Amino acid sequence: MADCEDVVIVGSGCAGLSAAIYTARSQLKPLVIEGEKPGGALMPSAKVDNYPGFPEGIGGAELMERMRRQAERFGTRFVKASVQKARRHDEKEETILTLSDGTTVTTKALIIATGLQPNRLSLPHEEELLQGKGLSMCATCDGFFYKDEVVCVIGGGDHACGEALHLSALCKKVFLVHRRDALRASEIVAEQVLKNEKITCVWNHIPTDFKLDADGCIEGLVVRNVVDKTERVLPCKGVFLAVGWHNSQVFNDFVEVDEQGYIKIASKAVCTSVPGVFAAGDCVDKYYRQAGVAVGMGIQAALEARAWLRERA
Ligand SMILES: Cc1cc2nc3c(=O)[nH]c(=O)nc-3n(C[C@H](O)[C@H](O)[C@H](O)COP(=O)(O)OP(=O)(O)OC[C@H]3O[C@@H](n4cnc5c(N)ncnc54)[C@H](O)[C@@H]3O)c2cc1C
Repeated sequence: MADCEDVVIVGSGCAGLSAAIYTARSQLKPLVIEGEKPGGALMPSAKVDNYPGFPEGIGGAELMERMRRQAERFGTRFVKASVQKARRHDEKEETILTLSDGTTVTTKALIIATGLQPNRLSLPHEEELLQGKGLSMCATCDGFFYKDEVVCVIGGGDHACGEALHLSALCKKVFLVHRRDALRASEIVAEQVLKNEKITCVWNHIPTDFKLDADGCIEGLVVRNVVDKTERVLPCKGVFLAVGWHNSQVFNDFVEVDEQGYIKIASKAVCTSVPGVFAAGDCVDKYYRQAGVAVGMGIQAALEARAWLRERA
């Protein structure tokens, strides 16, 4: 690694890799800090049908592998680590990153493309149940393990409805547990859920605990009625959490974030509150959260980083 990099990109999802392709083609030799999810959120997707240029659709892992190869072809370097802390150099317009492998990296321009992480509920046993014992945060990734079984999905927005619809094609029955008495999802998606005979909406209920079998695996979800406070058990083998997302906290003390934790961008797209620090993709985008949008923002960040470096050359 150089003493001071020209550009470092944090995150190897759609936004990070598109920024890498553009900065690499500008001869900036970008360094990508991959994070714990190389390839990002799209990796488990069996088929991405709406990404332009693939009329038959393409697997998420294959799409990300192609983006990575394209970035590598122009000289992008990758580091298998996560950023734990970011701080400004005392005298220069540079950023110093502390990585999970104990090393530090200094860079002139920084592109943050850390995506979003799914929210948890902090129910008892959540952590151990996520280790293949019945709790999941991704129907696309884990749905197949519950083929012909009964499962619960927790949530009521687009994300939860999407998970429930996906699971309804595989599972015997899907309980959609929602704390309100109506879905928050967009009308078309909500209608599909309400019409689906395999999905039963459990209105006005919140999960409070899991019922476990002798091996510590889920055999039921304990839910409480928020109106009359009664509890009951929904028998099921799998529970899918779909209660929203949160941003990586790593940069919260470094760039300005809004009340929901999204990185704030200045009047010009992708420029953060810190000069020479840019942000792209889902970590900024509270409205669209789509691969194509993340790719576009990654490109914008790359072009801004290049312009910023040129002004200071
Ligand atoms: C199951 C699923 C299916 C989807 N299907 C579609 C679809 O069909 N079409 C579509 O357009 N969109 C789809 N999306 C949305 C799409 O995946 C996202 O909009 C897109 O991946 C966002 O790209 P990103 O680069 O901003 O973030 P991500 O892809 O989430 O990548 C974030 C990257 O940041 C890294 N990272 C995080 N924190 C750190 C850190 N501290 N240090 C270093 N690295 C870090 C992670 O390791 C990861 O590589 C889907 C999402 C999910 C979850």
